[in-house]
Amino acid sequence: MSRLLSTRSNEQLQRLALLLLIIVVGLLNGVFSYIEFRELRRDQQDTLANQAALVSANLELHIRSTHQVLQEIVASHGFLSHEQQAERMQALANAMPIIRGIGMLNSRGFPLGGTRMIPHGTNFSDRPYFQNAQADRQRHRLYVSTPFSDITGNLSFALSKAMMDEQNVFQGVVFAILEPSYIEKLMGSTLYTPDMWAALLHLDAGQGIWVGTSQASARRPPVLSQQEIASLLPHISDLDRKSFVWSGTETRHIMAVSAVKGLVSPVEKPLMVVMGRSHDEAMDNWKRLAYIQAGLFLLLAVSAYWGLIFYQYRRREYVATRIADQRLIEEREHDYRVIVERTADCVLHLDAEGRLSYANPAFLALFEGLPSGAAPDSFLDLVVEEDREKARTALLLALEKASEQRLQVLCSTRSGARHMEWTLCSASGVADRVTGVIAVGRDVSAQFALNRELRSRAEQDSLTDLANRGHFLNVATAMLNRMVRTERPVALLMIDLDFFKEVNDRWGHHAGDTALKLCADLIRKSCREQDIAGRLGGEEFAVLLAGTLEEAAGVAERLRMAIASEPVTLTNGQQFHLTASIGVAQREAGEDLEALMQRADAALYSAKQKGRDSVARAGRPPFTD
Ligand code: GH3
Ligand code: MG
Ligand code: MG
Repeated sequence: MSRLLSTRSNEQLQRLALLLLIIVVGLLNGVFSYIEFRELRRDQQDTLANQAALVSANLELHIRSTHQVLQEIVASHGFLSHEQQAERMQALANAMPIIRGIGMLNSRGFPLGGTRMIPHGTNFSDRPYFQNAQADRQRHRLYVSTPFSDITGNLSFALSKAMMDEQNVFQGVVFAILEPSYIEKLMGSTLYTPDMWAALLHLDAGQGIWVGTSQASARRPPVLSQQEIASLLPHISDLDRKSFVWSGTETRHIMAVSAVKGLVSPVEKPLMVVMGRSHDEAMDNWKRLAYIQAGLFLLLAVSAYWGLIFYQYRRREYVATRIADQRLIEEREHDYRVIVERTADCVLHLDAEGRLSYANPAFLALFEGLPSGAAPDSFLDLVVEEDREKARTALLLALEKASEQRLQVLCSTRSGARHMEWTLCSASGVADRVTGVIAVGRDVSAQFALNRELRSRAEQDSLTDLANRGHFLNVATAMLNRMVRTERPVALLMIDLDFFKEVNDRWGHHAGDTALKLCADLIRKSCREQDIAGRLGGEEFAVLLAGTLEEAAGVAERLRMAIASEPVTLTNGQQFHLTASIGVAQREAGEDLEALMQRADAALYSAKQKGRDSVARAGRPPFTD
């Protein structure tokens, strides 16, 4: 539960961190975007400034050449006739595209001559280009007029010079009216986007020649309102060259100004080239990209946030499952512990060296407090010396490879040596990686004893304690095979008590049993350690012994005599004697136990025939005698 709670607060922290990250990245994004915006606008300003400088330099060239033309006209005044002068002026005006017309006025403002556009008899003394020159009367100065509407209705400028004689008396004015369409063309050629415009402004008049691309002009002529121009003029009047962002009352413009030099007038810089373009349209691309960028960023931020929420949800589920699993494991562990601690079996955990790392109470009850001192340290210490090698082999096998080994060994417990049956299971034996062994053991001493009892019952004759028929056949077969393998002689005695029926009849069945036990003892005594004796049934016995026919016959003879001489003593003190007939046969090549027994049996039969209480030797197979 506490783990779930800490997960919750972790989740909040993660979300907070992500939000902070989003905010920081968003801010950085904004800052970089703004820097880009500034750079882009700066570029636009620079480009406009260059364009304006280009136009003003071009105009300057034109104005200088016009100045030269006017100077020459003044210089040639008096040397040429009026007609010649008029022709020359017309030729010059034709040659120079910026000049629409040239005229010469006398000191009162009446035309002395000029191009075709100068009407005779009209007084021009009220015109600004006359008044400027008349007022200042400086021989070397070139005056620029405030804009005026020409006969076509377009605004135009005129450049004029005062004509002075040697005594510096004002003689009149020579002037050139500039061609507004040419100026428009000149400025128009530098416009490269539909939202761009250019103007040649007269700073004193606050008016000038405006030009925009046809689309832009059609859209909003004039580009700047008169009010805006009025507020703009003070800003640019003392500038030579500058670009800036102009926020008018209606629109925002990126603007560049460049003063047209080369003019001499009371106003220092009467003409100014102003170029501009709509700020919003210039930055439109940036704006679109910025919107896309912001949109993408927002999308990313939202998906990151929801991604985190989803991840946290999945993780929470995972943790909950883990906790449930853990609880299940703990419950299982508890159950297993109860089982292990309550079971009557000994349960041990052995490490990779076979040392005890855990022992359950049943084990401690059986092994703790051994006469040797503390509880044993190693599994092998439990096992008695004789069985230790067997235990070591099983333990090594379980440690070596994931497996289960069964082991029955004698262990030294606090209540003495006990037969223990152990199951050694490799611990954590996944993919052959064994970390130890789990040993489960139980005391099988009682079972062991019972088994032994059962086995002996199955193998022994209960009356005489000799091997019964089945067991005799088994062990005799094994011995016979062993003797054959080692090529040693082996012989069989078949013993049958004589007239035993009569013994029973005369002395009783119980006396018969006593007699049988006595005979069995005598047979046992006559056997060597490696010989095998058994009761085949009733009062028939057999002995398989190592040795030749001769040796076996010797044994048989001694046994016959022992039986004959040893009286059977009953509990009431009565005694009687017994005799036995014995058939002896030595195993011949190729003979099995059955065949050997048949021959010995035949010899026994012949011993009976001879009159009993005798030993008869079997003939060689096939019977020759
Ligand atoms: P033979 O000399 O020809 O061998 O005569 P026999 O009387 O011994 O004849 P047989 O071998 O046929 O008789 C065996 C007798 O042994 C029959 C049975 O009464 C007796 N007998 C068999 N088993 C036991 C036993 O466990 N206890 C007693 N008391 N008698 C047994
Ligand atoms: Mg018999
Ligand atoms: Mg008999």
